[in-house]
Amino acid sequence: MARLARPRSGHFDLGTGYHGDLWLDLDALFLRPSRLRPPVRWLAERLREHAVDAVCGPLEGGAFLAYAVADLLGVAFLAGYRSPGAAIGYHLPAVHGGIGGWRVGVADDAVNAGTAVAACLEELRGRGAVPVAVAALMALGPASTMLPARLGVPFYPASTVPSRAWPAERCPLCADGILYTDPDPPPEGGTMA
Ligand SMILES: [Zn+2]
Repeated sequence: MARLARPRSGHFDLGTGYHGDLWLDLDALFLRPSRLRPPVRWLAERLREHAVDAVCGPLEGGAFLAYAVADLLGVAFLAGYRSPGAAIGYHLPAVHGGIGGWRVGVADDAVNAGTAVAACLEELRGRGAVPVAVAALMALGPASTMLPARLGVPFYPASTVPSRAWPAERCPLCADGILYTDPDPPPEGGTMA
């Protein structure tokens, strides 16, 4: 599945306060939704075991998945909207009657340090919901072993992709003076307009 995301290796600012050695093109991953049906079904089965009332996903990619999984399970869908500001934060839409006591599964595309899903869990708990599990298409690097402790809920990755990531201020690639890799180079053979 990681192939669908056209992985590139190098030195990247992951945009979450972390630097890493792997870049995934998540737009390419979602280009043809029918190719994601098997892993989406897998994520749905993992969350079904937790009897969820809703599936929440952080925008962008996580929300696409959460919508598809919620549809399969016949439960509610909650989009996690990025809150403006420097720190990673998410807010949920207003739901008539509230979501207090709802059992919520969180879905995301690629989970690295888990910053986005952790922020979603915080928002869900703040709204009185009960996060019960996180499921992702891909776990990068050591996410699958480190995340359950950080998140406080089970974590189900449909696949794992080897990669390394570091807090930006402790990035060894920066320390070695390695320049950033352009994650989106012009297509080979293309002409510069
Ligand atoms: Zn760096």
